[in-house]
Amino acid sequence: MKKLAIEGGMPIRPDLLPYGRQQIDDADIQAVVNVLRGDWLTTGPNVDAFEEAFSAKTGAKYAVAVNSGTAALHAAMFALDIKPGDEVIVSAMTFAASANCVIYQGGTPVFTDVEMDTLLLDATQVEEKITSRTKAIIAVDYAGQPCDYDTLRNIADKYGLALVADAAHSLGGSYKERAVGTLADLNTFSLHPVKHITTGEGGVITTDNADLAQKMRYFRTHGITSDHRQRAERGGWFYEMVDLGYNYRIPDINCALGISQLNKLDSWVSRRRNITLEYDLAFADIPAVTPLTIRPERSSAWHIYPILLETEYLRVGREQIFAALRAENIGVNVHYIPVYWHPYYARHGYKHGLCAITENAYNRLITLPIFPAMSKQDVKDVIAAVKKVMEAYAI
Ligand SMILES: *Cc1c(COP(=O)(O)O)cnc(C)c1O
Repeated sequence: MKKLAIEGGMPIRPDLLPYGRQQIDDADIQAVVNVLRGDWLTTGPNVDAFEEAFSAKTGAKYAVAVNSGTAALHAAMFALDIKPGDEVIVSAMTFAASANCVIYQGGTPVFTDVEMDTLLLDATQVEEKITSRTKAIIAVDYAGQPCDYDTLRNIADKYGLALVADAAHSLGGSYKERAVGTLADLNTFSLHPVKHITTGEGGVITTDNADLAQKMRYFRTHGITSDHRQRAERGGWFYEMVDLGYNYRIPDINCALGISQLNKLDSWVSRRRNITLEYDLAFADIPAVTPLTIRPERSSAWHIYPILLETEYLRVGREQIFAALRAENIGVNVHYIPVYWHPYYARHGYKHGLCAITENAYNRLITLPIFPAMSKQDVKDVIAAVKKVMEAYAI
């Protein structure tokens, strides 16, 4: 057996392979440069064009672009009029921003557990958490697989709740032949460099509801009913602030990059799928490694490739496996610490034990590298490192 790098052996590769990373080509660079030479650096024609391209891609009627996925979630909570006293059901297995947006509006996130094999919101648990104060559900398409939106829709309709998809992981995925971006009342996306396409920083909300789209357009620019360019075109100066908004505007520079990146989405998602097929095949005979289950009629966009460790087959725990893989120069990560374990939430009274499956999964999770620019050798390195480490620590 080869000596583990963590014990002084040769690492599988000489340089660290990150878990995710952007891909920028000459067309992307040219698109940005063209904007820099033009008239509008922000709130210009590229914002409209990006929104049109994004709604065309997803099939949603409206797309509203903002300057982060977090701003997109905040705008969604604002549009739904979440306020103090309101409860919003949120998956516990997610990035903190999925829940923070509720608190920005003075509402209360109600953390809800996930299914062990998919780590997606468990519809039965959702129904148990509904009270007379519940206003909305935020479902998170963990790792890129869409949640069970038909079941969640039935629950939302039964109790008069809004359904929000935090689709930061799932751009390019689908559920029963319906594209992500059309599955909930409001669907939010992040355009951070590790996500499927990037604008540097950026976010989008898609919806078929014209009123909600309009509210979010005001919200991203101080709650003002016209923007700088619209006033310039009209030749007037008058504007009105009708709501308390923020400056969540996304620059034209970023949107030009977004339009160019969107052209590559389909091929990138299919490259991600091909990588997961290789991983699935390679790990099928390692009992200590369980990949996520993908349900029938769902197509994951594979933002991340997490594995669950079956610790009864291992002499060591997740920390040691993680450290050993990092020593082999595989940039593994962990998604996610249960949101309510963070000190901020603990201070606000959330206790350990709230979501047993999320907590159990967290202790066994490791995210392996996956991004479209990975070479064949990169994929082989990840597989070789996982095999090497699992063999070395097998019982
Ligand atoms: C990335 C991400 C966000 C936040 O997006 P930003 O663009 O970084 O603000 C929100 N929710 C989930 C699930 C994410 O992965």
